[in-house]
Amino acid sequence: MPPKVLVAEEMSEEGIQVLRQGARVEVALGLKPEELRKRMGGVEAIVVRSQVKLDRPMLEAARGLRVIGRAGVGIDNIDVEAATERGIIVLNAPEESTISAAEHTLALLLSLARQVPQADASMREGKWERRRFLGTQLHGKTLGIIGLGRVGSEVARRAQAFGMQVAAYDPYLTPERAKEFGITLATLDEVVSRADFLTCHTPLTPDTRHLIGPAQFRKMKKGVHVINVSRGGVIDEEALAQALREGKVAGAALDVFETEPPRDSPLRGMDNVVLTPHLGASTHEAQVNVSVAIAQQVIAALRGEPVKNAINMVTLRPEAYEVLKPHLRLAEKLGRLASQLLDSPLQAVEVAFHGDMAERDTEVLATFALKGVLEPIVTDVNYVNAPVIARQRSIQVSKIKTWAIENFTSLMVVRLRSKKGEKSVAGTVFGKDDARIVKIDDYRINAVPSGHMLVCPHIDKPRVIGPATMVLGEASINIAGMQVGRIGDKPGSQAVMVLNVDSPVGEDILRKIKKIDGILDVKLVAL
Ligand code: NAD
Repeated sequence: MPPKVLVAEEMSEEGIQVLRQGARVEVALGLKPEELRKRMGGVEAIVVRSQVKLDRPMLEAARGLRVIGRAGVGIDNIDVEAATERGIIVLNAPEESTISAAEHTLALLLSLARQVPQADASMREGKWERRRFLGTQLHGKTLGIIGLGRVGSEVARRAQAFGMQVAAYDPYLTPERAKEFGITLATLDEVVSRADFLTCHTPLTPDTRHLIGPAQFRKMKKGVHVINVSRGGVIDEEALAQALREGKVAGAALDVFETEPPRDSPLRGMDNVVLTPHLGASTHEAQVNVSVAIAQQVIAALRGEPVKNAINMVTLRPEAYEVLKPHLRLAEKLGRLASQLLDSPLQAVEVAFHGDMAERDTEVLATFALKGVLEPIVTDVNYVNAPVIARQRSIQVSKIKTWAIENFTSLMVVRLRSKKGEKSVAGTVFGKDDARIVKIDDYRINAVPSGHMLVCPHIDKPRVIGPATMVLGEASINIAGMQVGRIGDKPGSQAVMVLNVDSPVGEDILRKIKKIDGILDVKLVAL
């Protein structure tokens, strides 16, 4: 039966169509929290915007919930921590409103430069005030951009097309990336003091709250115009109102506010201010694109495929996923194998990447390995909550990369530590997708990691392997593959036998094998 998705807030028909291709869709808008709580029990995914609150108690009621899709950017209405602990993937769609937000910024920039809203209002009052609305040309002026991310860079391109100089401040952007936009980065003070028009495009974080406050207004040119289409609070509204009153700022245009809608804000009464009610993403195109993008991601996440914008999990681009797929499977299997071979409680996990493997997306690979390690130990572990579960259980997780290795061009090693000692398994991928386990502890083998496997450390001498396989044969258990590995070349030392078997092996059979002279241990692992 396809999974069930609850659409709890407005979503475009195009998005709903995409959901319907992979799920049973229930649309229920405007539910009261109590009604929502009841419905949440029976769904695997939910799509919301910014109004429906998915707090901890609500998520606790949602037993089967696996995916939350936020059709938009901000996730203030979702308790991401509680979702992560429960292994719920939280997705959003930050890219699809970029162009609309950039265009709205330009709309406000032009409105400020030519006082379009004020001139329009004047004409509606029956006036014809051509002198009052003498404008400012954008060509040759400097646009200061605070935050040169998705929206900021699109604004920059459009401003450059108007012949504006662009100066940008973004402490997290490399100068090379800025150069790609034809922009040289500057300090906050430089940008603020050079700008004829200043526009903010950062997220709202503790660092950016009131980033543009009294000190910055003091440094601005007299007659500057200020725009905010990012998040309310990036500009200190009190300080802005003061700077407008003093004439330091000639005009301001705001789409976002510290409180939305803004209550008795002094800005509402100022005629050199242009205000819009958070319309940045409000275009037909952005709404459709956001809905379709979130629907595609929700379906992909439900199918266990890679997603582009997961808030609480390491993500991969779909094309990268295709290439990495055999390595991801290997990582998970190495984790599962090592975990089932370890005897006492797990204390630490180390995932090592050697040679070519170190060049791959090791963050994602390590997460898959960790999921594999935890799976035999904890229920309901997935790629989202694996790191959280490890932390909660005080299991140390580390990752190392080295380029130098002997014999293999590429190797991944999962090493587990417990009070009693260590267990390590190593694997590689030959060719495109031929995954192999090539080492268990110090024993060299060459086993296909699949299905059920028996791992038997034994003394390397005659009449050990034969009797063991006989026991399996007598129990009608087919051996699909067999590998024996020993340390060094000399017989008589310890060795390990790895058998791929076509069906599970019962406890009684394992006991019989264990009794064979020379067998040191036998473990059945399921990969
Ligand atoms: P983004 O993450 O692509 O870009 C944000 C940029 O800000 C990044 O380059 C980051 O390095 C930079 N930044 C972070 N902290 C900074 C700091 N302290 N000083 C200077 N720069 C800093 O985000 P985006 O998609 O471009 O969105 C930008 C903002 O616009 C966000 O707040 C987003 O929520 C908002 N937005 C609003 C609307 C709307 O309807 N008004 C629509 C879309 C986006």
